[in-house]
Amino acid sequence: MSKFIVGVTGGIGSGKSTVAELFAKLGAGVVDTDAISRQLTAPGGGAIQAIREKFGEAFINDDGSMNRTAMRDHVFNHPPARKQLESILHGRIRDAVHAALEAATQPYVLLVVPLLIEVGSYRPLLSRVLVVDCDEEHQVSRASARRDMTPEAVRAIMAAQTDRKTRLRVADDVIENNGDLASLESVVRTLDRQYRTMAAGTA
Ligand code: ADP
Repeated sequence: MSKFIVGVTGGIGSGKSTVAELFAKLGAGVVDTDAISRQLTAPGGGAIQAIREKFGEAFINDDGSMNRTAMRDHVFNHPPARKQLESILHGRIRDAVHAALEAATQPYVLLVVPLLIEVGSYRPLLSRVLVVDCDEEHQVSRASARRDMTPEAVRAIMAAQTDRKTRLRVADDVIENNGDLASLESVVRTLDRQYRTMAAGTA
């Protein structure tokens, strides 16, 4: 793909979605693998039938969506189930990502992939990797405030995710999101200018 695509990753609560929104406001395209995954598991989503067949009705809500809480607990405690769920979702997510990237008309596109390090298959698409990083205390307080999760649950997810050092090692650019939203906005504005210049150079 000849588009300028910036992969965005970071741990839970690091600020990936917030950063993506700020870039989008400046005119960047945003393709978010989590959002695509949610669409696939929403009522009528493209993965629901396969999930029903593999996991049973207990994991489908009355409205036809996947029961995310039940599934999250289930795969957290059963690694083979996690693999099964991933095998249902990954190919479908990848197809939707490719379609969305192809359709994007903005000067450059951010591809938000929380599991960028774990799922190597997106790397060849990327011109650059942007890692959003912040102190672990910020991660815990922001993620638990936003997602209705206990700090302990957030810490458990953090422990299962790629560690910060490994993530930072693959970064071309790093946003340190330890300040307020105004300073985050200013860092995003600077990077947006750089990406526009880079994208124009490769077009
Ligand atoms: P992620 O997508 O990486 O899980 P989010 O972008 O959802 O993280 O951020 C988690 C929460 O923290 C959100 O409620 C967001 O509004 C808030 N947040 C992110 N960055 C900042 C910041 N610099 N200052 C204050 N709140 C922030």
